[in-house]
Amino acid sequence: MKRTAAFIFAHPDDETFLASCLIRQLTDNGDQPILLLATRGDAGKKNGDVGHLTEEQLGARREKEMERAAAILGLKRVEHLGLPDGKLNAADDVWFVKRVAEFIRAHEPEIVITFPEDGGNFHPDHMAISKITTSVVLSGDCPSVQKLYYVASETLKEQGHRPSVSIDTEPWWDMKAAALKAHDSQKYAVARYFGDLRVCPQQRRYEAFVLSWERGSFYPAKSEQSVTDGLV
Ligand SMILES: [Zn+2]
Repeated sequence: MKRTAAFIFAHPDDETFLASCLIRQLTDNGDQPILLLATRGDAGKKNGDVGHLTEEQLGARREKEMERAAAILGLKRVEHLGLPDGKLNAADDVWFVKRVAEFIRAHEPEIVITFPEDGGNFHPDHMAISKITTSVVLSGDCPSVQKLYYVASETLKEQGHRPSVSIDTEPWWDMKAAALKAHDSQKYAVARYFGDLRVCPQQRRYEAFVLSWERGSFYPAKSEQSVTDGLV
């Protein structure tokens, strides 16, 4: 049975940094990964050849880069809310919740994947989209959703929450590196995080996801082969 997994993140490239192989695996299995981004990444660090761009031009460029990455990852659909990059905290919560809920109700995913509460790296935009997405899933207004996953983080680990799904990116590394390269305006950030893209970096080798909620249970301790395990 074909399943839909909604990835809900803040910036174009979050999905590639954290979930390239999970997205590609879902596509290859005949499932349907889709992506909602809160911003177009229009305030993303402007280095080198994009230093001269206005925020509007950078946002347009990053949207194009996202299209290229989406083709490599096999994402069936990418939507942008177009909120201002770096300022998700200031967004009107009622409007924000409504838009995320509309996306989920329109596509009826069984699975939702987002940042953990700490945003993974305490980025305020990451923390904001985590909070909004979690509240939408737990509200009961989106009954298609059976499971909510957080990208694994140090904070979750300290709280004793282990990843349910862990994917070794090494066999997929050429695909992930190509998707990272598609986000060309972010190449300095990519190099800082992953190093030389010609080799799979051992310290960034695994994509890991913590099952934070499943049909009413919080943090059920499970080891799973796939995020699609155990759906009804
Ligand atoms: Zn981000």
